[in-house]
Amino acid sequence: MIVSVASGKGGTGKTLISTNLVLIASLLKKVGVTTYLDCDVEEPNGHLFLKPKIDATMHVGVPVPVIDEDLCTHCGLCGDICQYSAIVCVKDTVLTFSALCHACGGCARVCPQQAISEEMRTLGVIEKGWKNNIQFIHGILNIGEAMSPPLIKAVRSSCSGNTLHIVDAPPGTSCPVITAIKGSDFVLLVTEPTPFGLNDLSLALDMVDELGLPHAVLVNRAEAGNDIARKFCRDRGVEIIAEIPDDRRIAEAYSRGEMIVESLPEYKGIFIDLLKKIEERL
Ligand code: SF4
Ligand code: SF4
Repeated sequence: MIVSVASGKGGTGKTLISTNLVLIASLLKKVGVTTYLDCDVEEPNGHLFLKPKIDATMHVGVPVPVIDEDLCTHCGLCGDICQYSAIVCVKDTVLTFSALCHACGGCARVCPQQAISEEMRTLGVIEKGWKNNIQFIHGILNIGEAMSPPLIKAVRSSCSGNTLHIVDAPPGTSCPVITAIKGSDFVLLVTEPTPFGLNDLSLALDMVDELGLPHAVLVNRAEAGNDIARKFCRDRGVEIIAEIPDDRRIAEAYSRGEMIVESLPEYKGIFIDLLKKIEERL
């Protein structure tokens, strides 16, 4: 069972929700494993809250082309097939731009001289560890690296077994998010009751509709008397599954790297109720 926590924009509280949700699930379960997958590989921060003990590290990379100039006849076929301008034949030389390469393998296939081989280009690492009965997995993209989907895919492929997996997705609605949430059994869209928040929620709803994924909305920093998120969701016909109040103590606990359900136990009930509602929908 895979539950993804996503949002149309950054800073809505995805990590706060996903880490507290996984902690509550592990506390309620008592036996078995709950898995937390931090797919926000450009800025993974779930470890700051769950504080797992890391016991395994793996490098993740993609194959990129290397040209054997002795074999190359400069026919230009490799550059013609590349959709990303990652390989270009200029007069009597072939230039490669590995940062642009999507590792499709097309250039090597069309080369009539077998002048193209492949070498691995490292994108980042996956770290795995444990916090009690929570299995912790996150990806860390190399600094300056633009190609995050292969690393996210590698983190997601760690989903296994009949356990609950909580995926902390990257923000936005582009390729990295789609890679992270694809195949989820349920998507929890976190938003805040502001015009910016709802604009990006609208894009996120279009995305999950397009992917055909079951979903509901969680309103974070909900304020008494501010109904814009409720009105928006009513108009879009989407369910608000939970609301977390705009409480300064939550922000303070979060900034200290504390789990809300531990520091402010009065909020435990909201997360237990949220988990129950999600399980009913799975
Ligand atoms: S397809 Fe092969 S032979 Fe042709 S330019 Fe590219 S590397 Fe050289
Ligand atoms: S592997 Fe694909 S994306 Fe990369 S250079 Fe070759 S054709 Fe372009």
